[in-house]
Amino acid sequence: MAPGRFLWKHTLLQRAMMAAAFFFAGSVPFVPSIAAQAPPSRPAAPSAPKAPARPKLVVLLVVDQMRGDYVDKFLGQWTGGLKRLVEEGAWFRDAAYPYAATETCVGHATISTGAFPSTHGMVANAWWDHKEQKMIACTSDPDPSMKNIGYAGATPIGADTAWRMEIPSFAEELKFQTSGATRIVSFSLKARAAITMAGHKADAATWFDSGAWVTSSPYRTQPFIEEQAKSHPAKADFGKTWSLSLQETAYWYGEKALGAVPPDGWGLTFPHPLRGKTGVGEPDNTFYEQWASSPYADTALTELAEKAVDALKLGNSNGTDFLAVSYSSVDLVGHEFGPRSREIQDILVRLDKDLGNLFAHLDQKVGRGNYVVALSADHGVVPIPEDMQSTGADAGVLHLPEVQERIEKALESFNYAKPAVARIAGSDIYFSPGVYEKLQADSNAMNAVFEAVRTAPGVAAVYRAEELRDRPATSQSSNQSPAHRAFAYSYFPGRSGDLFILPKPYWLLDGTPLGKPRSYGTGHGVPYNYDQHVPVLLMGFGIQPGQYFQSITPADIAPTLAALCGITLSSRDGHVLAEALKKPTEARFPTQPARPKPAPASAPNTNP
Ligand SMILES: [Zn+2]
Repeated sequence: MAPGRFLWKHTLLQRAMMAAAFFFAGSVPFVPSIAAQAPPSRPAAPSAPKAPARPKLVVLLVVDQMRGDYVDKFLGQWTGGLKRLVEEGAWFRDAAYPYAATETCVGHATISTGAFPSTHGMVANAWWDHKEQKMIACTSDPDPSMKNIGYAGATPIGADTAWRMEIPSFAEELKFQTSGATRIVSFSLKARAAITMAGHKADAATWFDSGAWVTSSPYRTQPFIEEQAKSHPAKADFGKTWSLSLQETAYWYGEKALGAVPPDGWGLTFPHPLRGKTGVGEPDNTFYEQWASSPYADTALTELAEKAVDALKLGNSNGTDFLAVSYSSVDLVGHEFGPRSREIQDILVRLDKDLGNLFAHLDQKVGRGNYVVALSADHGVVPIPEDMQSTGADAGVLHLPEVQERIEKALESFNYAKPAVARIAGSDIYFSPGVYEKLQADSNAMNAVFEAVRTAPGVAAVYRAEELRDRPATSQSSNQSPAHRAFAYSYFPGRSGDLFILPKPYWLLDGTPLGKPRSYGTGHGVPYNYDQHVPVLLMGFGIQPGQYFQSITPADIAPTLAALCGITLSSRDGHVLAEALKKPTEARFPTQPARPKPAPASAPNTNP
């Protein structure tokens, strides 16, 4: 350990002791006697580094549904923050989630904790609750003392907290393990993103619900958010139009994305007006859907982040502050228009500008080099099936209600009460109470179920819960397929299903009731690279710029930030991206006077 680092830790200990003395003593000022007992710190060596030992601010940015290849494809058109991250930062070009459940709640919890869902327990955006016999959101909190709280007079329903997240976030650990001076602030349009990035408690965790900014009981409310919610509400964007921001020739794809399902009030081509259902009058729910699917929502989140830096003076306290923003709109646009769309290309051009503004603000208020940024995504997305089919490839829609019907039918001759299946949610098949236990003891019925699922159009394989338990994914000697390992990394007892469907590549898992049209273009949530491969970009304090090609996962982000901040996380699922960290400079180590070389044995003894 470098001596400079030891000294730093020492003074921190003294500070902590003083703080503790104040706390226990109430108004009795006996601090000096405690402080006096601490051994005097050694004077710093003249060669000690001037730079702070830790970043002043950690900035975590998540772009919801940003595929890894968007950086490769669109980098040439960026001039702002995304370009700066690539040019001044460390770009990991082969980053991918190793698990199956590539969804928002799961990805954000993985980035924030440095653990996989089998550890942090956020296995999906929503799962079937065996006890309640209903679907529950990953953030839903049944504790009656918990409630959501609206800014600017809004009255949101429900309660969303991080109580189902089994381990603390990096930000919580940072606050807990250092002097406690850390402020934790997060923003997103989605509760499941803002909450998982912040953790169980925070100075602010804010999301958007039905036209209003919202938080909940475990998080503090902030006057600057109230002010922003009143002075520049989302409805101020009513009447604006999202038009192409580059020359038409700059776009990779045609003006209509094949198979796209735009939000109400929008056509298949630009421009997209933000005028709600009727086009006149007051903002309605349709307007807020349009707004959330537009670059204006990204700009609103960026403004909130900048206000947080100013109002709380983030990056100017004794500790390391934490600011997180999850940009949700790319996800909505991707679901509607697919990855091969002008809409995706254009919203990233706008986001690049927003991030350029955010970094310029941080340079000014925190200081270039004093903060570290990590940018990633929670998952990617599969091309719209109809679009993929146009290439002649095997692609399609795997209708989950059809799978459910097949299972019920297969069990008719085995005397199982209907419905045998309680729910199919994404890949997870949940049976009604007692049914799966019965199937485990009834191999003929189990085989019939397997046969029924495996022969449904678009199904590649089926896995059983007992194959995934006890985390076999981590076993070095395991010879399972990558897909099997991926389902094991996602498996959490009591929350995951009984059986798991692996679709064929480019087959979309779809829960739309049979006979109804799909209300979206495409989706994500399976263990294929188009859903798993995401960007990981690090920039700023302690980061060695460059392009890195080794295979990593977004669970490596939190351990890397932890190494920069000198703290320890509970999980070792992720690892430190040591190759992208600057090595300590020579100046950190006091130089020893050079030793004289020993004389060669054959040399004559010249001593007197
Ligand atoms: Zn999504």
